[in-house]
Amino acid sequence: SIIVFGSINIDLVATVPRLLVAGETLLGHDFFKVPGGKGANQAVASARLGIPTHIVGRIGADSFGTELVNSLQASGVQTDDVFVDETVSSGVAMITVDVKGENQIIVIPGANGRVNQEDVERLSHLLPTARVLLLQLEIPMPAVVAAAKAGRKAGVTVILDPAPAQKDIPDELYSLVDIITPNEVEAGGLVGFSVDGEESAIKAGEVLRQRGVKNAIVKLGAKGVVCSTPEDKFFIPAFPVDTVDTTAAGDAFNGGLAAALCEGLSLRQAVVWGAAAGALAATKLGAQPSLADRMTFDAFLRQ
Ligand code: ADP
Repeated sequence: SIIVFGSINIDLVATVPRLLVAGETLLGHDFFKVPGGKGANQAVASARLGIPTHIVGRIGADSFGTELVNSLQASGVQTDDVFVDETVSSGVAMITVDVKGENQIIVIPGANGRVNQEDVERLSHLLPTARVLLLQLEIPMPAVVAAAKAGRKAGVTVILDPAPAQKDIPDELYSLVDIITPNEVEAGGLVGFSVDGEESAIKAGEVLRQRGVKNAIVKLGAKGVVCSTPEDKFFIPAFPVDTVDTTAAGDAFNGGLAAALCEGLSLRQAVVWGAAAGALAATKLGAQPSLADRMTFDAFLRQ
């Protein structure tokens, strides 16, 4: 199975004629409430591919929390280890998008910001029967490091999506990670030089490997993916698709990558699965609604 240790969020999206200035009240157009959070998105991505997937995380004791758990379950994610934290709200992102597509986003970490060692202990109970642990950086860093340690100790494959972008992450974390999967911006932030295309992505991958990760996969959006492993360096082109919205393409990639590794495929083949899942997510609007089921995924890979 796959275990995702990470964030669970609700996105509250308002479409507006233009973005607000201080002190202003504005009439908006539409309102959408959509489940999100990188952890939850990645769990949904792998569960929809038919892989037994658990999420370990926190929600608040509010109606958003209930909705979030229900929607995870509807996608087949096991939520027994989602803890209801009575002291805070569920994680919320308040998003306004104007007619030009510009946005303003306020993120309230809420329960995600309280993930701690207690959650790592629940995680540890699941690890003996798991194959892959998926981590992101939308929860406190000490919890991520402790989870990676527990994963390494249990002998599972530890995947880290270092998103949202950070300037640095603890040295210790690099050495606990089997596969790191930044996009160009995240890779650039970590290595301190601009990452844009295949050549700089290979360099970035090498820097990340020198810091202690076993394998580095740099996602280059519609260009594809570059992998740097102890054995070789290779490029996997993106699948050509009609792009509608790339939201959650990175989350789909991680779900697909983890799913393939869980099925015992090679790293190269797992990257192909990730790229296929990412491409499919780019063909549909939204985050979780754009994540493919196994039938769609298999048909896409066959064509
Ligand atoms: P993130 O969402 O983290 O920024 P990317 O945009 O790089 O990540 O997307 C992750 C992967 O999904 C890419 O490496 C690529 O394989 C696939 N992908 C993303 N956008 C497209 C697209 N427009 N067309 C085809 N594949 C895509």
